[in-house]
Amino acid sequence: MSKKPLFSIIAPIYNEIGNLDELYRRVSETMKKSGGDWELLLVDDGSSDGSTERMRELAKKDKHVKPVIFARNFGHQIAVTAGLDYASGDAVIIIDSDLQDPPEVMLDLIAHWREGYEVVYAVRETRKGESWFKLFTAKAFYRLINRLTSIKIPVDTGDFRLMDRRVVEVLNTMREHHRFLRGMSAWVGFRQTGVKYHRAARLSGETHYPVRKMMRLALTAITGFSFAPLQFATYLGFISAGISIIAIPVVVALRLAGSQAFYGQASALIAVLFFGGVQLISLGILGEYIGRLYDEVRGRPLYIVREAPKSAKQVHK
Ligand code: UDP
Ligand code: MG
Repeated sequence: MSKKPLFSIIAPIYNEIGNLDELYRRVSETMKKSGGDWELLLVDDGSSDGSTERMRELAKKDKHVKPVIFARNFGHQIAVTAGLDYASGDAVIIIDSDLQDPPEVMLDLIAHWREGYEVVYAVRETRKGESWFKLFTAKAFYRLINRLTSIKIPVDTGDFRLMDRRVVEVLNTMREHHRFLRGMSAWVGFRQTGVKYHRAARLSGETHYPVRKMMRLALTAITGFSFAPLQFATYLGFISAGISIIAIPVVVALRLAGSQAFYGQASALIAVLFFGGVQLISLGILGEYIGRLYDEVRGRPLYIVREAPKSAKQVHK
């Protein structure tokens, strides 16, 4: 490449006042060594702790910093999506703003991009400062996704990754509301590779991903890439219908033979409860898909921007 490449770094910010300065410092130190131009897109996802003002100050001091400020909190995946829409780089890097993803690793990602890979994702070799519960559920989650879905999502990777312009262009045309970016970027294809890194503990503040949000993201991943839960209802239906067809002659024969088995209401009650449960679960699964379908059909905008610098044009809407 004759011209210096432009790197866009996207960092979603949700109440990260204790991390912003250090993030900016380490990103700019690292990018000085990258041999390219760079822009740091700070997407403010409805912060209320003064992060917004701090972002504006940083942008005033350094033209590399470009704050995109949301009208309210839209969630991590949507904030990153906005970053992708505004990024104009030849390569785009997504990074957490709590410094769990060390900015220095970006140089590794860039080196692999220069070798010709279009997606370079960072694989967590170790994770610091996480509860055993988070580690366990995360491990189980990645393995479940790989079993249920046909696309191969690399195990133990987060959103920390570099994507070539061509991949970002494709992602920008995928306007689904319920987004699982790791899956989407795997789905796109191209030449992909992983780089191992050690995930640090959060510098300041607390996680914004409580169990409830983790479950939501897991559901988004499963429903976004698989029909397995819908088929699960079909299997359950066939199994229980099969059992009852076999059970009918057995019960009739036992009763004719004068057996005391299956007298009374208890057995009937258990059967009714069991099938009631199965039906409600199946309805719930249907509801999950229908709700998501409804969100897509309404076609509301993915996010609302209150303020964005002129220097960061929205490449995609
Ligand atoms: N984040 C966001 N919106 C949200 C929640 C989180 O933009 O509603 C950002 C947050 O500021 C951070 C990144 O997403 O940069 C990852 O969040 P967090 O560190 O809380 O998640 P964890 O690393 O614990 O999974
Ligand atoms: Mg974090």
